[in-house]
Amino acid sequence: MIKLIQRLKEEKKAVILAHNYQQPEIQDLADFVGDSLELAREASQLKECRLIVFCGVRFMAETAKILSPGKRVVLPVNEAGCPLADMVTPADVLQMKKKYPGAVVVSYVNTSAEVKALSDVCCTSANAVSVVEKVPAKQIIFLPDRNLGWYVQQRLPEKKILLGNGYCFVHERFTVLEVKTVREKMPEAEIVVHPECKPEVQKLADGVYSTSGMLRRARESPARKMVIGTEVGLLHRLKKENPGKEFYCLGTAKICPNMKKTDLKSVLEALSKEEPEIRLSEEVISLARAALERMLLFV
Ligand code: SF4
Repeated sequence: MIKLIQRLKEEKKAVILAHNYQQPEIQDLADFVGDSLELAREASQLKECRLIVFCGVRFMAETAKILSPGKRVVLPVNEAGCPLADMVTPADVLQMKKKYPGAVVVSYVNTSAEVKALSDVCCTSANAVSVVEKVPAKQIIFLPDRNLGWYVQQRLPEKKILLGNGYCFVHERFTVLEVKTVREKMPEAEIVVHPECKPEVQKLADGVYSTSGMLRRARESPARKMVIGTEVGLLHRLKKENPGKEFYCLGTAKICPNMKKTDLKSVLEALSKEEPEIRLSEEVISLARAALERMLLFV
């Protein structure tokens, strides 16, 4: 199946992009593996390809389409969505804008294309602090992740962040007890967590990083053992890139079922049929693109 995928990929001038949370065999097959920001950048810079097979969830494939509107973008599993992204609708954004007319809307990249189109600028967990810092306004409507919004507010007390009430159900499952237990059983290990984790978990960790930040920290940290508070899929890359170190999940393995829906069979099918294709209106693409490009300019 891998050989077939590779042959078809060449024939069709396709590129396979995969998120850090994808299954190991999908990560190994992809031309590029990264977090939302890295994949957004990669999609915007692809020159030679005609078709993007996006192994991730819907909002990510939409982002690739917005940044590469001339290319066909397919999401191998149509139902691979993100519950966090579904926690804010265009109507919610309009309502917040009406309530706080002077505020700037910063939307996490985990949002639908329609929500991005109504936002002033987007951000990812890797650049949220830097984006909010550079926005020329004191009042920020930050949607939808309340934990990431809290993380940004701690680092930028001069800003007034109006939080959305969304959350990632995968990262919300990390607990204070899990951090305390690891501290007791593995005191030599460094504990790093994602900013989508709850504030009380973030406060107890040694560091709070996006997935790309965790990969960087793993390379640079003197610690030989690291305990990771994010989706379990990141362990594959961490272990592959740091063979001399040990990586563990914080508590029980936290799995995002949507990220695991993509398998070799669905990639092969998407490549051969060039479906399910991401289709967005020109208006949404152009407005959402402006918000994403502002983000790319800021970082
Ligand atoms: S891990 Fe959370 S934020 Fe990421 S795709 Fe899954 S539900 Fe969405």
